[in-house]
Order: sequence, then C-alpha cells, then structure tokens
Amino acid sequence: MIRTTDAIVLRNRAHLEADLIVTYLTGDLGIVDAYAKSPRKVGSRFGSSLEPLTFARISLYGKEQATLPRITRSDIIKPFNQLRESMSIYLKISEILELTLRTLPPRERNPRVFKLLLDTLSLLDGRPDPLYMLYYKIKLLGYTGFAPVLRGCIRCGEDTDRFYLSEGAMLCSKCAEGGERFIVLEPSVQRLYQYLSRIEPAILKRIKVDKGVLAGVEELVDAHINYRVVDRINSREFINAL
Ligand SMILES: [Zn+2]
Repeated sequence: MIRTTDAIVLRNRAHLEADLIVTYLTGDLGIVDAYAKSPRKVGSRFGSSLEPLTFARISLYGKEQATLPRITRSDIIKPFNQLRESMSIYLKISEILELTLRTLPPRERNPRVFKLLLDTLSLLDGRPDPLYMLYYKIKLLGYTGFAPVLRGCIRCGEDTDRFYLSEGAMLCSKCAEGGERFIVLEPSVQRLYQYLSRIEPAILKRIKVDKGVLAGVEELVDAHINYRVVDRINSREFINAL
C-alpha cells in the first residue's frame, strides 16, 4: 500500500551502491526510515528533496509495518536550504534533531512534535536566534515526557532554589539527603522556564529576554538533557552491546 504524509528529513545515509536511507519525522507516522532507490539517477529534484531539514510531502510504498518502505514520491514544500548553508547553524540544528531522535520512539505518532519542529525551523529560517533552539528543547521535553519538574520541593512543596539532576526536580534542603549534585535556580530562571514552556511559537518573535537569565535556563536544560536523555541512552546502548 501507499501512504502519503507531510514529513521533515532528519538525516540520510548511503545504502548499498546508489540508494539512500532517509529518516523522517512525519505528521502521521512519527519517526520512520524509508529508502530511495538511486535518488541521484532519478533526477536532481527528487535527490534534493531528501536533504536534511527539507519539508516535503512524501509517498511511501510498503506493507503497514514494513521496516523500510520505499519512497515513491517526494515533493518539496519548503527546502530550508539556508539553514544547511551555514555550518555553525546547521550543527546547532543537528543537536535538536538528534535530541528528537533520542526522545521520540520510532513510529510513535506525535503531531505536536512535528508541528513544533516545523514552526521552529520556520522561525530559524527567518533569524537563527538561540532562543528558538532553547524553546524547541523545552517544548520537546514536555511533549515526550522528559520535562524537569520546577514547582517547589517535589516532596513537601516548600519553595526552594535547588534543582537535583538525579530527581529531575526541585528539593528543599530538608528533604534532600545530601551529597547529590544540584543546580541553584534563581526565581527569574524558574519563571522564564515556565513561561517558555507555556507560550506558542509565534510569541517568541516579540519577546525580549535578559541574557543572563536565558543563560541560566540554557544551563538547566542542557544539564537535564545530558543527565536524563543522553547519559541514560548511552548506558542503555552500552548494556545492550554487552
Ligand atoms: Zn522539601
């Protein structure tokens, strides 16, 4: 059967002699791998529609649960080629694509994540502001169940400024058993995090954010991701390899 869906290319890699395996984030099917037969021979428009970040309408041919359906059609809706042209921007975007691959299981439909990536790429295409990348990370963590909990001490509810990576949450000095590493979060950092996790992407273009507070939120988000997502997955891969 053939299925048609809107999709964003997350990455691609060579397969056999002339084929390509493309990993997509789709609106209908979540993250899927599909292959293109000799894309370079078929014509440049098809080939360029398989470049990372391209937003396209694709048709996939294969059984419902086929592990590797074939891409029979791919029509570019938006190429986002400016975002690929600057290496420094592309590397930063690669980081959020990688995070998406690590937090969203394959074939798990999540239209909110799809819309979030599309909105974020559109914003970055206009102006590559680091705020947009941070926003993407915060929203993605929320949509995939990895968000840190910042509503006072998670055990007793007292106000506190200590965020414990091992808990993914705040603890007051009485409830913390000590020894564990924590990050001090100023109230302004907590407020900015909460605000960014609530707002719609269109609002981002209009807001002004204090650089110091923004750096505090970035530090929290990156430390939390490293602890919750990256380290955990690396250790799972390591255990599986044994
Ligand atoms: Zn407490």
